[in-house]
Amino acid sequence: MISSSHLWIDDGDALMTREKQGETLYAGFDFYNCDMHFTEKQKALRQEVRDFIECDVLPKINPYWEKAEFPWEIARKMVDLPIIGGPLQDHGAAGLDLVEMGLVMYELGKGDGSISTFYGVHSGLAMGSIGLLGDEEQKARWLPPMVKLEKIGAFALTEPEVGSNAAQVKTRARKEGDGFILNGAKRWIGNASIADILIIWARDEETKDFGGYVIENPSDTDGVGINDIWGKIGKRAVLNADITLRDVYVPAANKLAYVNRFSDMARVLGLGRYGVAWEAAGVAAGAFELALKYAKEREQFGKPIAGFQLIQQKLVDMATEVTLMQTLCLQLSHLINTGLLTAGTVSLAKYNNARKARYVTQLARECLGGNGILIDNHIARLMLDAEIIYTYEGTNEVNLLLVGRELTGLNAFV
Ligand SMILES: Cc1cc2nc3c(=O)[nH]c(=O)nc-3n(C[C@H](O)[C@H](O)[C@H](O)COP(=O)(O)OP(=O)(O)OC[C@H]3O[C@@H](n4cnc5c(N)ncnc54)[C@H](O)[C@@H]3O)c2cc1C
Repeated sequence: MISSSHLWIDDGDALMTREKQGETLYAGFDFYNCDMHFTEKQKALRQEVRDFIECDVLPKINPYWEKAEFPWEIARKMVDLPIIGGPLQDHGAAGLDLVEMGLVMYELGKGDGSISTFYGVHSGLAMGSIGLLGDEEQKARWLPPMVKLEKIGAFALTEPEVGSNAAQVKTRARKEGDGFILNGAKRWIGNASIADILIIWARDEETKDFGGYVIENPSDTDGVGINDIWGKIGKRAVLNADITLRDVYVPAANKLAYVNRFSDMARVLGLGRYGVAWEAAGVAAGAFELALKYAKEREQFGKPIAGFQLIQQKLVDMATEVTLMQTLCLQLSHLINTGLLTAGTVSLAKYNNARKARYVTQLARECLGGNGILIDNHIARLMLDAEIIYTYEGTNEVNLLLVGRELTGLNAFV
């Protein structure tokens, strides 16, 4: 293992020492001074998330990641951060502006992909669906305990046979009495095995309308089977599950009020993609900062490896890509704030940043030589988490095709 001086942090002792010395653990790479665009309030929130990552996540996450175990002790502490519910305004939700939301995802991604996904699924996809598509009664019922993390949310769209072609889900809802009967299967559902509020996306058997059906306490609901998926190579500390639904009863009051079409729900996915573009930039920045620090301190052939041209090429490539991702995210936040965000513009950012996060984390891992493959040194974990970002919130191929469709007016999906 390399010494603590190479990295943000290796263990609690290193953290204590640095805190005493008043050192900043994060380098906060910002070559183009994007910071000049952020308000003091936005920067203060970012600092809170950084502190959480440095004190509560980095010293503890690696054993959970290695064992593929969900880190409740870390996740529970997120309730102390004013970030749950993201941009939602009422019922105790954080009411973040969209730049704040992006900065939160950037910092969480920089720290750990499992934690950022737990947050993204609970706060973004699940709470976001209820906040954007539920009526007042539904919001008042579910959001307050979700804000306090007393109830955990999950969002179940993908199915074993239907992934990218998500509008064609096969799960069916049948009207029966004062409710609905659900039948079908879901796959890859984050937080499912710990969820209290599970949103199932299905089509009405008769009308073919698209709808969101909330199953409360799914683990104790007749007809619901939830089995965690083992053997993931990335984001190992957040669990994803297969779900089966056999004649599951959902009361009519649990059908989200304001969704009839796939495009209604796609608003939630659009916001999710915005967050994931920032998350990918954070993952890349985290790996780059670690590699830069290591390269300046690690000596071979009598000098720091950062002094070799081949290492500088990797460092400059990484710095370039991270800077482009940061500036892209910044402009994306202006588009979303001014209502100019389109499916194509958000997909372009997700497409670019997920691809580049993969590239940057691999270069960073190379700079550490053998030490780069140890999860103790964080980069290997970030590198494998980047693999998941490449695939979820729309695979990179799907995001590419969404951009292509907006540019050309031609649909190349089918
Ligand atoms: C760790 C993880 C967490 C996830 N969390 C959730 C979650 O919480 N909730 C949820 O609902 N889903 C979740 N997903 C599912 C994720 O959104 C899907 O994996 C994704 O949409 C792709 O679906 P698929 O895996 O079935 O791949 P497929 O759709 O089968 O795609 C396989 C390959 O074919 C390509 N492809 C498909 N169609 C086309 C086309 N028209 N043109 C060109 N190429 C194409 C894809 O890009 C991909 O490369 C998660 C996935 C992972 C891996």
